[in-house]
Order: sequence, then structure tokens, then C-alpha cells
Amino acid sequence: MRANRRTFLKDAAAAAGLVLVGCEAAAAAQTPARPRAARGPVVIRGRRIRTVDVHAHCAVPAANALVRRQAPAPTGDQASLLTFDAEPLAQRLAAMDAQGIDVAVLSINPNWYDVDRDLADKVVAVQNDAMANFCAAHADRFAAFASVALQFPDLAAQQLEDGVKKMGFRGAAIGGSVAGAELADRRFDPFWAKAEALGAVIFIHPQASGMAALSGRLRGNGMLGNVIGNPLETTIALSHLIFEGTLDRFPGLKICAAHGGGYLPSYMTRSDRGCETFPSQCTAGVPRRKPTEYVKQMYYDSLVFTPEALRHLVAEVGADRVVMGTDYPYPWVDAPVDHVLGTPGLSDGDREAILGGTARALLRLT
Ligand SMILES: [Zn+2]
Repeated sequence: MRANRRTFLKDAAAAAGLVLVGCEAAAAAQTPARPRAARGPVVIRGRRIRTVDVHAHCAVPAANALVRRQAPAPTGDQASLLTFDAEPLAQRLAAMDAQGIDVAVLSINPNWYDVDRDLADKVVAVQNDAMANFCAAHADRFAAFASVALQFPDLAAQQLEDGVKKMGFRGAAIGGSVAGAELADRRFDPFWAKAEALGAVIFIHPQASGMAALSGRLRGNGMLGNVIGNPLETTIALSHLIFEGTLDRFPGLKICAAHGGGYLPSYMTRSDRGCETFPSQCTAGVPRRKPTEYVKQMYYDSLVFTPEALRHLVAEVGADRVVMGTDYPYPWVDAPVDHVLGTPGLSDGDREAILGGTARALLRLT
């Protein structure tokens, strides 16, 4: 099965006029902790493509110690893979090479939305200092989204401004909700206003804690809190930003949603039809445009799992709205570049944009 898929991917890439260097080596990336070989650069019609992964995780142990929490270990006990220590860094760089990733944009899933202001300020400061220093020392391979204490929107706005203006961050990473509050709550408007003014990208990544209301039904076998809960959290978050008018109040926002935007892009026309069918249940004039128009103005990572799923995402939101994501070091995907190269119906320009062109422009990467 896997061999057939690889053959298909290589054939599809060859048909598109692509040159893949050492593409079979991508199989080594199935376990990011132990890549066996580097695949080499990605070249499309003789042009070297500088690829960007917008969805790559890290952790700052000193910050986790402050809140006495840990990020879930990607492979059993290997929490160290999330850190910047020498050995994990060597493994990460080898995994990036094996997968064909030139630049990884790091982010940290918030685990501090329920702590007080002083502690949240400290946690974010420790994280942002560590990430900024790391990225400055490895600017050819890494960039990052700042952490922010979004439960205190004024503080988060200041942290975002400092992060972008003084520390080299490309925007901020936030959860799909904030300790039970929706991102579309008006109290977060100061944060959205700042993000819009700065032109900063806001990367929205769901968290299991955001699905607390549904947690009873997501128990049981199969990790439903993750496989269903996470994309549902994203779907709900983006839908509120649309339907509560947040994206009308801040039309210049640059939002990038993890995991292909969850379920929203796959079924977005139902969002158009709802208020048409039952207008009495919708506030007149909110949102100002059709919901699908807002879906098409946001960005989505490529973390959907088949060529057909990525083809469909591109068909719904546009090739210029999809950017590559891997979720490293969580081993959800083994060959993210081949995933894009092997997706049918894309032009060479589309592939170049998804692999790195759009992200480089959006995040102002060189
Ligand atoms: Zn992730």
C-alpha cells in the first residue's frame, strides 16, 4: 500500500515536470526522531524551491516548569524532541532535511490560558526569549510565532507588538478558544486590532481543552478528543470569527488555521445556506458577506492526509491559501513535500506557492 502510494507520488511529480532529489529517502522520516537520510533540495523545473513548514512545535522546559505542565511527548518519553538542546536539534534538522523542509516556523501550544496575569506574563516572556534567541542563532532554518497571554487581551496585544517589532516573530500562535471563551468574544478585539495593525499572522491551533463541553462524548477508544475534537475546535473557532463579525471589524487579519482548517473548508457552503434558509436565526447584516468568502480569505496548512483531501482543500479555498505544515515532532505525516507534489490538478506555480512561496511572503521570510 505504502509502496504503491510512493510510486503514485513520484509518477505524479514526474508528470508535473518536477525534479525530486532522493525522494525515496522521505520514507526515513516516518519516525522524525530517527531519520536515516536527507532527501536534498526540492527543485521544480530547474528552480530550487525554498520550502517552509508553518506548523512545527517546540517547548521551553523552563516555561513549562513555571506552570508545572508539560507538552505531550511526541513519541512516548521523548519530550526532549520539542526542545532546542543539541541532540534534539540535530535530530530535527536531519528530519527537516529528510522531509525536504528548509525553514520550520515554530510555535508552542498554549497551556497558560488559565493562570493569573503575573504568571502568564512570565511564562510568555521565558518562551518568547528562548524562541527568539534560538531563531536568531538559526535564522536560515527557523522562524517562530510568538506566544501571547490571550486571556489578558491588552497584555497579549503588547506581547505581540514587542514580539514582532523587537524580537523577530512573524506573528503569534493561539488556541482555538481561551479558557472557555470564544476568540470572537469582543474582549479580544484589542488583540485582533493589534494583529491587523501589525500585519502579523495569527496561527490558530486547536487544543483538547477547548472541547471541554464535548469531552464526555469524545472519551473512549480512538483518541476522539484529538482526531475529531481538534478539527471541530478549529471549525467552531473560525465559524465564530466569521459569524460574530470579527472578520468584518478587522478585515485585514491574516489568520492561518492548523490541520487544513478542520472541517470548515470541507463543508463550508452549509454555512452560507444556514442564514438563507433560516434568516430569523441570524443577525441581519452579520456577517456582511457570505461566510464562504471569509473562509477563502484565511490560510490553511496542508495537514490533510491524502492527495484527494488536499486537492479538495485547494479547490475550496484556492491554492494561494494553503501552506505546508508538518506538526513536527508529532509524526502525523512522513512526506509533507511529496504530499504537495503528488496532489493532482496543481500547476507548478501552485506547488511552489504551497511548498513555500505563500508562506515566505506572508511571514516575510527571506
Ligand atoms: Zn500541531
